[in-house]
Amino acid sequence: MNSEKLSKRLEVVVSFIPQGSRIADIGSDHAYLPCYAVDKGIAVSGVAGEVAEGPYQSAVKQVKYSQLEDSISVRKGDGLQVIQPHETDCITIAGMGGALIASILENGKSKLEGVSRLVLQPNVGASSIRKWLLKNGWELKAEQILEEDDKIYEVLAADKGNPEEPYTEADRDSELLLGPFLMKENSSVFKRKWKHELKQWKTIIDKMEAAEDSPQLRERRAGIQKKIEIVEEVLDENR
Ligand code: SAM
Repeated sequence: MNSEKLSKRLEVVVSFIPQGSRIADIGSDHAYLPCYAVDKGIAVSGVAGEVAEGPYQSAVKQVKYSQLEDSISVRKGDGLQVIQPHETDCITIAGMGGALIASILENGKSKLEGVSRLVLQPNVGASSIRKWLLKNGWELKAEQILEEDDKIYEVLAADKGNPEEPYTEADRDSELLLGPFLMKENSSVFKRKWKHELKQWKTIIDKMEAAEDSPQLRERRAGIQKKIEIVEEVLDENR
């Protein structure tokens, strides 16, 4: 396995896999993540799940090239359908939107039996995942934000536990949107991400001013406006 191939983003995902895990990487594409984790001795076995034929074939090729066919099983299928309950103890899902990751978890709930850790890396919409975790008994244990190739990524790690633990009653809305651990850490990457989001939302609001009024438009605008208020307050407090 050419471990140099792993991006900084996927290295951070791997850093949250408990030593000795049996992992399933859903939406694995080239299966770089499970190959790296097994090759480095972090995971003892892996399932690489893929819904699309091209990426599935890439995963098959990579596992073969890495000579890891005995420890990594490449399976084609939608979301968690490719695993059995109690087959794995750590699931990684990376490089998709947060809403899609949350829907994969929601649709595959029965397959989460025996799983003790989830490592999730949404490209956008991490709040959908935090909300899903909160509703479904998963405790957010850690978050990391990183920048690579001018893109900013968040990585979330959760265990079965008390889902309320990282949240405060007073700041729950902000914590769900921005991440309770990331808010506390208040790194320069975090500030850059949210300043950029604010700018984009304000451009959208300006464009909406020019559009024809409708109840849907008003509702969408109110949603964005609320997010602007939350983020402005957090950035202001954390200056
Ligand atoms: N996980 C890799 C990474 O982070 O570099 C690949 C990310 S790639 C952008 C997303 C992959 O997820 C695609 O290969 C896509 O086919 C796969 N995918 C999307 N929805 C899926 C689903 N419901 N079940 C399994 N795979 C899915």
